Amino acid sequence: MMMKKWIWSLIALVAAVAVARAEPPNVIVFLVDDMGLMDTSVPFLTDEDGQPKRYPLNDWYRTPSMERLAKQGIRFNNFCAQSVCSPTRASIMTGQNATRHGTTTWIQPGGNNKGKNGPPEWNWTGLKKGDTTLPGVLHKNGYTTIHVGKAHFGPTGSEGSNPLNLGFDVNVAGAEWGRPKSYYGEDHYGNHPKYKKHRTHNIPGLEKYHDTDTFLTEALTLEANAQLAVAVKEKKPFYLYMAHYAVHAPFNSDPRFADHYKDSDKGKNAQAFATLIEGMDKSLGDILDQLEKLGVAENTLVIFLGDNGSDAPLGPKYDHTSVAPLRGKKGTSFEGGMRVPFIAAWAKPDPKNPWQKKLPIPLNAIQEQLGTVMDLYPTILDLVGAKNPADHVVDGYDLALQLSGKTNPDRSEAFLMHFPHEHRSSYCTSYRTQDWKLVYDYNPGGKGVAKHELYNLKADPFENDNLVSKSPEKFDQMIAAMVRQLKAENALYPVDGDGEELLPKIH
Ligand code: CA
Repeated sequence: MMMKKWIWSLIALVAAVAVARAEPPNVIVFLVDDMGLMDTSVPFLTDEDGQPKRYPLNDWYRTPSMERLAKQGIRFNNFCAQSVCSPTRASIMTGQNATRHGTTTWIQPGGNNKGKNGPPEWNWTGLKKGDTTLPGVLHKNGYTTIHVGKAHFGPTGSEGSNPLNLGFDVNVAGAEWGRPKSYYGEDHYGNHPKYKKHRTHNIPGLEKYHDTDTFLTEALTLEANAQLAVAVKEKKPFYLYMAHYAVHAPFNSDPRFADHYKDSDKGKNAQAFATLIEGMDKSLGDILDQLEKLGVAENTLVIFLGDNGSDAPLGPKYDHTSVAPLRGKKGTSFEGGMRVPFIAAWAKPDPKNPWQKKLPIPLNAIQEQLGTVMDLYPTILDLVGAKNPADHVVDGYDLALQLSGKTNPDRSEAFLMHFPHEHRSSYCTSYRTQDWKLVYDYNPGGKGVAKHELYNLKADPFENDNLVSKSPEKFDQMIAAMVRQLKAENALYPVDGDGEELLPKIH
């Protein structure tokens, strides 16, 4: 027994020395805007035996590069994001829940988007210069930090609107905009003189592609690959935040892929959405190829995810259509609004690579335990050996154990999505544990009875059977647990007509 322990210690020491001598690992976060769990040919949902289960939407979308990445890594079937853009993006940057960083709905470039009864003090100006951010910490640890694509971290004129103020060394095409006016080079991505009366959502910095047929997704990919080549030439480890504008509306059809969908019975927008997905997927493949070409694939961790539930234009927003079989879509409190695809893989698996020894990722694996957008920050810092500043609170968990295919017994199984604003689902908090999900309705208008919801996700994963009246004890227990977490994360609440805070009531 003693001997065995001694041998293991020696192996651990040898691995640690190998890592200390190796070139630092590179990290790519490949973030797709408004991409939900079912917008892909990779099946993320599983059957009772934990095996991947295909649904019709998996056969509608074409994502061969995601299939390639999924084969060489692990995907999560239970990964949660906030229901809209900015809250998730700030969580990836800070490792904090939206309640704590305070950006609880999407940032409107032109002003405060709190909604009629939203909390007046919510963080509508987003991230600021000097805030602790993932790229900021990585930069201090010797990384070249590259931002490509959609930023949406702060409103027009704010510090946060410019990624260079938030820890990035390079910014390609990032601004205060949450979507492009146009994906077409012919439209100068929204900068064409024809738009001069309403000059918004114009994507900056891609002038060399104006008046070409380069789709925005392709332009961003070419620029990202060029930045990777620069970082490798300078022999610096890199962090690439590849945040595609795709697949957010407007649903501009990508002509490169339109033929694949034209004979279907689905409508024009649904077809265009599928082309946006396929263009994003080509980008993933092109970046993986570039990593191999540059000789850094073995040393590069790729994390692929969506920023909120799907916005696929496939039917009514609260039904089982856009993200079928899941219910709801982006902006709703249903699972279709908060579940996103997540894949982590080394760009080229190589068991001999010291970083892959430190973080071994099984091939073609599925992780069933919860993961959240808050987890990227601690996971990446831990991998590269960077320290989180002592005064910076982190709500996420290091995913290392889960990425290696194991269950982490020490992580929280709860996910809190607090949305004290107006949208498709308004003024509500979703509180989700392993088997149960509560949606607490603040009902600020005071009209009728608040419509709280309680689902048993294990028995009813598609949220058809509201158990509030059938399971009153569980309902009370879930509210109490939700309130504890809201308090711990310093949540702000909706207000009534007199400006008084509406606190959730424990029965
Ligand atoms: Ca989004």
